[in-house]
Amino acid sequence: MLYAMPKTEQWQWYVEEFSPTEQHHHAIDEVFYAGRTEFQNIGVIRSAVFGKMLVLDGDTQSSQADERIYHETLVHPAMAAVSDRSEVLILGGGEGATLREVLRCPDVRRCTMVDIDGEVVDLSKRYLPEWSAGAFDDARARVIIGDALKFLAEDRDRYGVIVSDLTEPLEDSPSNPLFCDAVFRNIKARLTDGGVYVLQASTAGFHNMSLHAKMARTLRRYYRSVASFYTHVPAFDNDWAFIACSDGADAARLDPAAIDAYCARLRGQNYFYDSETHRRIFALPLYLRRELAKEGGTF
Ligand code: SAM
Repeated sequence: MLYAMPKTEQWQWYVEEFSPTEQHHHAIDEVFYAGRTEFQNIGVIRSAVFGKMLVLDGDTQSSQADERIYHETLVHPAMAAVSDRSEVLILGGGEGATLREVLRCPDVRRCTMVDIDGEVVDLSKRYLPEWSAGAFDDARARVIIGDALKFLAEDRDRYGVIVSDLTEPLEDSPSNPLFCDAVFRNIKARLTDGGVYVLQASTAGFHNMSLHAKMARTLRRYYRSVASFYTHVPAFDNDWAFIACSDGADAARLDPAAIDAYCARLRGQNYFYDSETHRRIFALPLYLRRELAKEGGTF
């Protein structure tokens, strides 16, 4: 999980291994916490370049320096695309930054966040309070510690936006069962008319986009609009992809003026997302469009 490598006398290192032949080495300034919860390995560290970082099962989840790039991209295109933002559901989202971004919107009456791992939430509150910035104490926040799969099976409410901010579906990850055909299909029943289901949807790197494409192709079976978008997230050392799905709204084709009007109503200032950024993140390179257009290769 966290490797303490005596690479130089001066530093210890967190090594994120993307594949057996590819690694990113982060010099560690401080380890706040390193241990194992019931569900996953967890590290909370401070890296020299990215500041504080949350690491689960050896995967960087977010960093202090650039988490706003990830979280604004995950949340706001979907929120801007819908007219009914009163009820929002987050699957996962342990650090509370997705909750923070949703609650910046004054139209939100209630935001329910369901994360399986209470220890991730508690450690984030303790060591990474900048991420949630008070969102856990917002009266509109309903935080449920439990399996999102079970929650989706039992819950009968409907949501204008459902945000999936789950860990990568690695074989042993508790998020794995939520990335499958049946869940992608059944989530539709939890959306209001015109609602949007948005997912963190793995990498969009030229050498590593097959999982993302598989998710998009599977979702196309069930939603009229399935829009991929991506941005570079420096702490991930990767292009990170997202998918917004809906039967009513097409997040890829939002009117720039409507995006900026939506952003202007958010509490506080955006760091990354506005209509110009929107245009950039939804403009996909040819190699990715070709991969997405292929048939087959679904869950
Ligand atoms: N930004 C991240 C990334 O790039 O992968 C995801 C952020 S967030 C920390 C992921 C959260 O998903 C974790 O807190 C984890 O506990 C939660 N999670 C994993 N499986 C889950 C499940 N079955 N139900 C609810 N939450 C789950």
